Amino acid sequence: MSAPAAPPMQGMRDELRGSLDLPRVLGDVTGARPGPTVVLTGALHGNEPAGALAIRRVLAELAARPERIAGRVVGLCGNRAAVGAGKRFSARDLNRRWYPADLARLAEAPVESLRDEDLEQRELAGTIGELEKSGPLAILDLHTTSGASPPFVCFGDTLENRRVARALPMTAILGLEEIIDGAMLGYYADRGHVAISVEAGQHRDRRTVARHEATVWIALTALGALREDEVPELDAQRTLLAEASKGQPAVVEVRHRHVVLPGDDFRMLPGFTSFQEIREGEVVAHDRSGPVRAPLSGMMLMPRYQGQGEDGYFLVRETRPFWLWVSEKLRLANAERVIAHMPGVAPEDALNRLTVDPKVARAFVVDLMHLCGYRRRRDDAGKLSFTRRAR
Ligand SMILES: [Zn+2]
Repeated sequence: MSAPAAPPMQGMRDELRGSLDLPRVLGDVTGARPGPTVVLTGALHGNEPAGALAIRRVLAELAARPERIAGRVVGLCGNRAAVGAGKRFSARDLNRRWYPADLARLAEAPVESLRDEDLEQRELAGTIGELEKSGPLAILDLHTTSGASPPFVCFGDTLENRRVARALPMTAILGLEEIIDGAMLGYYADRGHVAISVEAGQHRDRRTVARHEATVWIALTALGALREDEVPELDAQRTLLAEASKGQPAVVEVRHRHVVLPGDDFRMLPGFTSFQEIREGEVVAHDRSGPVRAPLSGMMLMPRYQGQGEDGYFLVRETRPFWLWVSEKLRLANAERVIAHMPGVAPEDALNRLTVDPKVARAFVVDLMHLCGYRRRRDDAGKLSFTRRAR
């Protein structure tokens, strides 16, 4: 099955018109057999309604025949007020500031003192917090991009996240969660949940709803919530995503992020799409200090064609699947016990945290840390700090 002929823009607005007032809980279906608790989130950014629309459709189908589900599937809408206003956010990005201290402060504040994203975040975290009480969750967060893009999947690189993400026929992005602090999925991944996010294409491209639907069905089978033969047209769903990702690399790693500060007057040059080849030194945007040049060669990811948001663009490079195989073997062998004894590496907290002195350690140690599932944290006093992702 090929992707439906593109009627971008047209149609999405009609469906949106009826959805401006999306409820927080888009659906909640419990099956007859035990299984995982899957949480689907959409529209964490208000200008990205496609995910929420797809979640609503899948949950309506599941509700018609709940007996086929193992476990429970819950769909949640992210930034309800911003969806209503057709904006990315009202006061601040809802996909930031997911830190334990901030969430505790929001949970304790009198509700009438909260507004905008503070209120949205408190409700969302409260709902997920209740679900969390019953055990580990699998969270799938659905997004779209401001520039044209084939679909892709992002995740903290644990073996379980990787297994689910690689079940989706689309490019896997490594290292994005590591450089964006305070994202919702980073918080839940640190709490030991399966957490992956999918970007399905341009915000107003109608095909993104079908891509997100296909993503949800395939992820539900990978997570064990549905048997493959219980999914309507599973092969067609896979083909839809594979066709949309045709010619794209299987796995890439983020090598550069351009941060946009308030007042930068950042303007991306027109016409860039995700995974387009970029040469070192190429002018990709302008801001108040002049032309913005790519600091290294690679592929463009998520060029920013919207007024709001602090990510200007990313550059990624292809990673050979061989390295994923290597890293799986290293992790299964607990290779961090060896790394901890290498020169310049100081273990703390039973290997959950390793500090690397770059003046002493060999350059490949950083790559080795990533291969072993460590995440780079803020660097202090010239030392690199890594923490082990929850397993
Ligand atoms: Zn988004």
